[in-house]
Amino acid sequence: MICDVCRIREAEIYQPHTGRRLCRQCFIEDIRKRVEKEAEIIGLQKAKKILLAVSGGKDSFVLADTLASFIDHNKLIAYNIVEGIHGYNRKEQVEQLKKFLTDLGIELIEDSFKDSVGYTLDEMVKSSMEKGLNVSACTFCGGFRRKLINNAGRMVNADYVATGHNLDDEVQAIVINLIRGDLIRLIRFGDKPLKLSSKFVLRVKPLRKIYEWETTMYAYYKGYNFQEVECPYITTRPTLRAKVRELLYILEETKPGSLLNIIEEFDKISENVRKEYSTTSELRELPRCKICGEPTSYGREICKNCELLIKSGLLHQNLPIS
Ligand SMILES: [Zn+2]
Ligand SMILES: [Zn+2]
Repeated sequence: MICDVCRIREAEIYQPHTGRRLCRQCFIEDIRKRVEKEAEIIGLQKAKKILLAVSGGKDSFVLADTLASFIDHNKLIAYNIVEGIHGYNRKEQVEQLKKFLTDLGIELIEDSFKDSVGYTLDEMVKSSMEKGLNVSACTFCGGFRRKLINNAGRMVNADYVATGHNLDDEVQAIVINLIRGDLIRLIRFGDKPLKLSSKFVLRVKPLRKIYEWETTMYAYYKGYNFQEVECPYITTRPTLRAKVRELLYILEETKPGSLLNIIEEFDKISENVRKEYSTTSELRELPRCKICGEPTSYGREICKNCELLIKSGLLHQNLPIS
């Protein structure tokens, strides 16, 4: 079978959402172009500095590789956090990514929860359990990751922080927030970044319209030998995401292109909802945490991260009486 795009090379891959059969080169070029198109919508090409939040996984490789194909590598800088989870060492993965980044001419900043928070993720989880807190490891991890990534973005004077979230991740998050009815959080998922605090570096997701299977194939074709290790905390993860993931998978299989349709329609809706909100000034500057000074949710005095540390007995401050 001949490739539907170049009509020269042998097709190797079927892309259900377009109904095309593609050769390796045309497939890679298709992904690259779609990432470039998304970057244009975001305005990434005009940025002076972009911090790439990486993990060593395939998506971080695809993020770096596609962006480096149309953005000057001097404007890109990568940042990785070691969480400190026993038996989950992505050292080899990160080393491999580092090698790829070096080849692309991108510097990597290495950080860890131990260095920047004072505790490994294991230590945080252990203390919280001893205090009888019912908080999943992912809550600690997600919250502190967001905070450290934003700090790093500010430190290197980045105009944007780019993460490797793919289409599957993004639609799952949209559906979960829809189910929860969290409108403010929901409209943050639009294609244009939303800045709710002067202390936030704009977060963007250039891979948000690339299917997960596509990032996997891209990494594979480009020789990125990922051995994705599963995080041992996966069993403590909330199950809603797993259920949504399964439902979306069935939907996509029944009607290829569904996830892309959802995100494109969602972007239009979120644009309109944002307009509505900005006229009612609901999207005002976020308050600052009284302890760490970082932005926190509306109505809060102390950010969730500091609150978790206090409740786990790892930070000795009094919680405000509410
Ligand atoms: Zn081709
Ligand atoms: Zn705080």
